[in-house]
This record gives sequence, structure tokens and C-alpha cells, in this order.
Amino acid sequence: MVHNLHNREIARGCELCLRGLKSIIFITGLCNINCFYCPISRERKGKDIIYVNDVCANLITILEEVESSMSMGVAVTGGEPTMVIDRVVELCRLLKREYGNDFHIHIYTNPASWNRYRAFKLLNDAPIDEIRLHIVSRDVLRRFLRYLDFVKNCSSILGLEVPVVPGLHEDIHSIVEELYHRDIIEFVNLNELDVSESNYENLIRAGLPVDRGRVRGSYEICVKVFYELCDLFPDLSIHLCSSVTKDSIQIRLRMFIRSLYYSTTYHRVQDDGTVLRYINENVVREVLIGRSFKVFEQY
Ligand code: SF4
Repeated sequence: MVHNLHNREIARGCELCLRGLKSIIFITGLCNINCFYCPISRERKGKDIIYVNDVCANLITILEEVESSMSMGVAVTGGEPTMVIDRVVELCRLLKREYGNDFHIHIYTNPASWNRYRAFKLLNDAPIDEIRLHIVSRDVLRRFLRYLDFVKNCSSILGLEVPVVPGLHEDIHSIVEELYHRDIIEFVNLNELDVSESNYENLIRAGLPVDRGRVRGSYEICVKVFYELCDLFPDLSIHLCSSVTKDSIQIRLRMFIRSLYYSTTYHRVQDDGTVLRYINENVVREVLIGRSFKVFEQY
């Protein structure tokens, strides 16, 4: 494996994401796993639909959306992207052909969904820069390790990216240890657990207290795991992504950039991505929904 990340350096996919320069491609709502904490909305879950930055798309309109967001890369997510692995390979080849090899592609995948065909296409066939493995249990780790022969030939950077689910977080140390000592991963991303209308009841049923859209104590557990891993693996790049970072930085910056792209001479783009539109003496605040501005507030 070629090591590209130096001591504690953040993964390139995260660096672009934090600057609002990644488009998020939801490549399918299909998934054959049923994680109780899955935050995918009911409108998307189980449906074979594509969205880019929350705009409904197909393989062709993906390019339009990537351009209007002035993105330097994409994150491919779902559902489980390997459920439509041929589509993923076609998409990644199309993006690299269109925008060149420096255009950065990362993908988020759960190896519990893989079979040999999907694993081979993902690890050896698709031009993907970073593969982020969603492995929250030793059982999923065992399944992933079946594909070591494919991993050996893989030119992508591999990392572990997991939501820190209170109760499941104790396995993370041993998963990181095994992947690190086998020289498989170069980074670890810990995500604060997302709460959505679709996982709310499951979280409560699992005994996790939800308070104002967050699982109480989950961020603190995330921080604790983060510092423990930093102590145990001083050479590994470890990053913590909170819900606030996602909502207030990544999404807002992307909105700002898209609003700049779609704005006209009558618009003034605000820091939060909304725009002010001047009509004679009047001012309205508008927000970009899909590809057009809708009035949000009238002054
Ligand atoms: S693997 Fe991902 S998409 Fe599938 S159920 Fe789990 S969280 Fe949801």
C-alpha cells in the first residue's frame, strides 16, 4: 500500500468537504443491511433513486450539478453504493474523464453488503481515491477481511469511517487496531451519530436518549474515543466530524458556492448562502431550492 497521508494529516476528501468543495452524490437508497441507527429519510430508504446535493438527478444531470456547485470532488454515498456497483464504476469513470484525474472521489461503504463481484469492482476496478469503510462490529470486520486478496491490489486510500453509536463504540478500538496493524487503513473518521425522523424511534427503543435532535452524551463519547485512539495510534490520521460541522460548515459553504453560481446582478449572496434580491425599494431574502431561488422572507 502506498502511504499518502503523513502524520495526522487530514484525508483529502475531508479537506475538500470542509471547504464546501465536495458534491454529495446519493447514488441509491438501496441497502441490504438494516442498521437500527440508519439516518436515511423514509423518502429515500429502499428506493433506487439518485440525488446530488439534495437535487434529484441521473448520471447526466450529476455533471450539471457538480459544475454549478464548483466542486473539486464528490462523495458517493447512499444507501449502500455497492448495491449498484456497475453504476458507481460508470459514474467514477465519467467524472475522471470529464474533470481529470485530480478530481477527487471518495465513497462510503459497508462491507457487510459486499459479495466477491462488488468487492472486486469497488477495490480493483473503479477509479476511486478514498474508500471509507463503515465497520462498526467485529462481525463486519471478519467479512471485510475475506477480501484481503482484492485489498492488496487496491490503489485507493482506505480509511475507517464510523458513526460513534453509544454501546457499539467499544469495538472501535479493536477494529482500528486490526486494520492498522495489517497496514490497511490510513485514516479514521469518527462521526457524531445523526438523529433523523427515520431513526428517532429506533434510537429510543435502543435506550438512547434523544434530546433536541441529538443523542444525549454521544458527542462526549465521540470525543473520548477520539482521544483514546490518538493516544493508541500516534501515527494514524484521526478526525472527528460533529453534526454541527456538517450542518454549519460543509452544507452552508456548499450552499454559498451554489448561490454564487446561480445568482444574477440583482442578487447579493449572504454568508449563510441565502441571497438578498432588490426589487425597486423592496428587499426580499431568497433561498436556493434545487436550481431556483424561492422567497424566504420579505422586508
Ligand atoms: S449500511 Fe448505511 S445505508 Fe445501510 S442500513 Fe446501515 S446506515 Fe443505512
